[in-house]
Amino acid sequence: MSNADWTARGEQVFIGTYSRFPAAMIRGEGCILWDDDGRQYLDFLAGIAVCSLGHCHPAVTEAVCRQAGELMHVSNLFHTKPQIRLAELLCANTFADRVFMANSGAEANEAAIKLARIHSGAEKYEIISLTGSFHGRTLATVAATGQPKFHQGFEPLPEGFVHAEFGDSAEVERLITDKTCAILCEPLQGESGVRPLELEYLQKIRRICNDRNLLLIFDEVQTGMGRTGSLFAYQQLDVIPDIMTAAKALANGLPIGAMLTTEKIAASLKVGTHASTFGGNPVAAAAAVAVLETMLAPGFFEDVGKRSDYFIKRLQEMVEQFPALATGVRGRGMLLGLVLTEKGRKHGIEIVQKLFERGVLINFAGMRVLRFIPPLIVKKVEIDQLIDQLSAVLTEFN
Ligand SMILES: *Cc1c(COP(=O)(O)O)cnc(C)c1O
Repeated sequence: MSNADWTARGEQVFIGTYSRFPAAMIRGEGCILWDDDGRQYLDFLAGIAVCSLGHCHPAVTEAVCRQAGELMHVSNLFHTKPQIRLAELLCANTFADRVFMANSGAEANEAAIKLARIHSGAEKYEIISLTGSFHGRTLATVAATGQPKFHQGFEPLPEGFVHAEFGDSAEVERLITDKTCAILCEPLQGESGVRPLELEYLQKIRRICNDRNLLLIFDEVQTGMGRTGSLFAYQQLDVIPDIMTAAKALANGLPIGAMLTTEKIAASLKVGTHASTFGGNPVAAAAAVAVLETMLAPGFFEDVGKRSDYFIKRLQEMVEQFPALATGVRGRGMLLGLVLTEKGRKHGIEIVQKLFERGVLINFAGMRVLRFIPPLIVKKVEIDQLIDQLSAVLTEFN
């Protein structure tokens, strides 16, 4: 079988929700993927910020295989060792005292929305989120998502979601009513084009939440699990949320999500108020424990930081070399974006396509930014390889 055969077969059977690259990936190791034609790719997408320790990291693979041979599923009617270990690790290394386990980012956010509502009482159910945000594809998380393109055709959406302009704290204040229960945001927006919220803004909304008795929810589905250079992005910001969600890289590729909060707020979710059949599944949880243990080893984030600085420096060279196409670099850790000019944006999709043809995987976020989300373990030489290919492609459009 070849890529072309698989692509043709896939097109016969799938509902057309995805625009896929014409490649069937069959193997991965570190930052490298191989397709069924034997082509090799340098992966600066990492399964959309998921495979943060690289493909098939030995510690994760070992944990998965071991757990799969012992116990795969019992439901949440019982305790399991990996799920308890995972929850303990998350609590020990964040502000949180309590965890609810889900299977994805959207589900973790659903849990956060339900918690914010039940904790705040029947009269207070409105959540303010931001324009450009992305919170998932279930109906409630789509409603929370501040991008109209994700709403179209699915109305009426669940009530109780309003959107404030990105970075405008005065608008947040204007939108607060007697019905508001929470402010929900990503500390750094990934999908809309790697857009960090300013520290002052985040401090301001923390104060607003304190003053107006609202919950601050951070969606760290993308920014969490080391992506921005610390275990969670809020830990570099000195702004502590009341509720936080994680997923994506939590188990380096197995489906899992988590909603974290304090003892006091968690008390509002009582027996029977929320549940998930698969949530915190032992195999996914065992993988997540291995991920956390690897990331929490001394020096891990320091090392990510050094390579991030190097990557930023190399991307800045692209801005200097191609001013007609690129205007700046933004982001943190290994969630970086090369912001394109008006001219560059017109070619964004083609740039990604040309890089794919050269065996390099990246994506185009928010129709304005080339987004780089490689495994956190990406090597300097791999960053150099990416820059060489990127520079060759940008030359074609310059
Ligand atoms: C990917 C993402 C989600 C949705 O996660 P799924 O696992 O696809 O449901 C939610 N929020 C943010 C910030 C994300 O990046």
